[in-house]
Amino acid sequence: MQYKVIGILAVILMIAMTVTAAAADSGNPENRVHQHLTGRAPDAGCNCDRTELCTHLPLVLIETGGQEIPGVPIVDANGQEIGVTTTEDGEEMLLAKISILDNPDHNHHPSDSPDLEASVLIRIRGNSSRYFDKKNYLIRFVGPDGDYQNHTVMGMDAHYEWALHGPYLDQSLIRNYMWYNIAGEIMGYAPNVRFCEVVLNGEYRGIYVMTETITNGTDCRVN
Ligand SMILES: [Zn+2]
Ligand SMILES: [Zn+2]
Repeated sequence: MQYKVIGILAVILMIAMTVTAAAADSGNPENRVHQHLTGRAPDAGCNCDRTELCTHLPLVLIETGGQEIPGVPIVDANGQEIGVTTTEDGEEMLLAKISILDNPDHNHHPSDSPDLEASVLIRIRGNSSRYFDKKNYLIRFVGPDGDYQNHTVMGMDAHYEWALHGPYLDQSLIRNYMWYNIAGEIMGYAPNVRFCEVVLNGEYRGIYVMTETITNGTDCRVN
């Protein structure tokens, strides 16, 4: 009995050490923690001429037709937040186009044909993060009539509402991702998350984490 407990503790310690080692390696982009069992391997390589962005991660292209994404805090002369920006039409969310490239058979480039092309409503989300340069976004897939539409994204269950988190610290980005994966394995209800790279109106915005929002989607594990 005693040995069994010690054995279990030893296994837990080994897992903890492996996870810590993976976190320590996160400075090297080629050595990032596992994306998803079916995801494209970081070292899979590509034959392209590197004249454009080339990534093994899923690529998310957002086009707003030149319009600003609403949700930027408006601050008065005293530094007090008095609201957030809206669209030119006074709406909370802006209609935009999203293209997602996520094919595990090859690396992804902005000029590749997308695996998913859809209309979305988008706004900036989060509280303090609204002030940072790397914004977090809330996205809702919509159909031609503006009705919400569920879509499978990067192999995750179909939802209409998604969040794009752009953590400004890479270490915390790695930690969040690992936490979600471990929590998902142990507890079974953590939101699905995927690393991806985001290009907004042709401008590279960096690495983001695409997550399902916990409160939406017909299949949701938590309501
Ligand atoms: Zn390439
Ligand atoms: Zn769900």
